[in-house]
Amino acid sequence: MSGSFEETLRQRLEAVRAQGLWRSLRPVDNRSASVLEAGRHRLVSFAGNDYLGFSLHPAVMEAGARAVRDWGAGSAASRLISGSLAVHHHLEETLAEFLRTESALGFATGHAAATGVIPALVGPGDVVVVDRLAHACCVDAARLSGAKLRVFRHNDLDDLERILRWASGLPRDASGGPRVLVVTEGVFSMDGDSVPLAGLVELKERHGAWLMLDEAHSTGVLGPEGRGLAAELGLGERIEVRMGTLGKALGASGGFIAGSRALIDLLVNRARSFIFSTAPVPAAAAAATAALGLLVTREGDEARARLRWIAAAGARGVTRAFQEPADSVPPEGSVGHIRPVIVGDEAVAVALAERLKAAGVWVPAIRHPTVARGAARLRLTFSAAHTEADVDVLEQAFHRASIDTPTTRSGGAA
Ligand SMILES: *Cc1c(COP(=O)(O)O)cnc(C)c1O
Repeated sequence: MSGSFEETLRQRLEAVRAQGLWRSLRPVDNRSASVLEAGRHRLVSFAGNDYLGFSLHPAVMEAGARAVRDWGAGSAASRLISGSLAVHHHLEETLAEFLRTESALGFATGHAAATGVIPALVGPGDVVVVDRLAHACCVDAARLSGAKLRVFRHNDLDDLERILRWASGLPRDASGGPRVLVVTEGVFSMDGDSVPLAGLVELKERHGAWLMLDEAHSTGVLGPEGRGLAAELGLGERIEVRMGTLGKALGASGGFIAGSRALIDLLVNRARSFIFSTAPVPAAAAAATAALGLLVTREGDEARARLRWIAAAGARGVTRAFQEPADSVPPEGSVGHIRPVIVGDEAVAVALAERLKAAGVWVPAIRHPTVARGAARLRLTFSAAHTEADVDVLEQAFHRASIDTPTTRSGGAA
């Protein structure tokens, strides 16, 4: 019978391969601020989310190392049992102060924050409305909650309003429900564009819905002192649930939810990914706290300015070297640190990524199921840790790759 298990898996893997969607892991043997070493390859990486270079910042690393010496490698228990260490509380107080919220709660990952918070807030009979391009963890969490899941067209407030109107017409239950939760992102992870937040906040308030904003790609990058998109637009107090990760611009690991005292109390009592999971490692909490400290200094401002500069230079280089299909010009409202180069065909995207690798640059090909079928792309991410020389290498690599991969000029337009 074990033969049939193996056979079933083999068939499914064949199907993945046949669709050009095969993925595998590549061990990185060594990394510096912008370079990865993998086997024989030494590659300038435009693939990370370490937007400010903080994961290798001496103060952030030292805070993590000190926490290991003071607290140990692990937290030894879940938060509610005996793992609620002072480092975790210090992080949460720092986060709440940084985001100007009453309270904040750390999770082991951003993914766990999403799967904890959504089912804690809504359940069967309620409604979750997500942007079509929202991150998989928010979609998974919405499904897990048992609420009705509705998807609105990306950043399309008219489509969202249509769904909110429908939800307002649902029969009321005894507790005044159904409750309606809108979920979207500050900066979208695969397209790099940002949400029309002011209009969205106004809309959800008009319909009495709640809003959860995932700022995984905007915390640390946007807004005064890197406090994110909501802070940049002065809308923080009108958003019920603010989510982020500690693993991207903050250079550490973990996720968080910030909001009112009542929200955080509810999560401590109801969020299953918080309750039934070992507390995050002390090193991650301490490193993230140190990164938050850096964000609000002049060094933080300089890192953000440098990121903007590098992203603009990188985008100019790619545009000079590589003629993108006309319909793949980056969307309006793009902030720059995430720059998709949309190719369309999955196999062509993979071939291009291979050519870039041969030219010394690591840019991942992003395919279904991360993005829609036929919307395969190269996803470039920039970091304050990139140098001008890195950006030159990128431009040259794109130049070479585009000569060698004529199929990208869809239909021979070149
Ligand atoms: C990365 C990411 C997450 C998950 O955060 P992790 O800390 O990596 O688990 C959630 N939402 C978005 C939009 C992300 O890009």
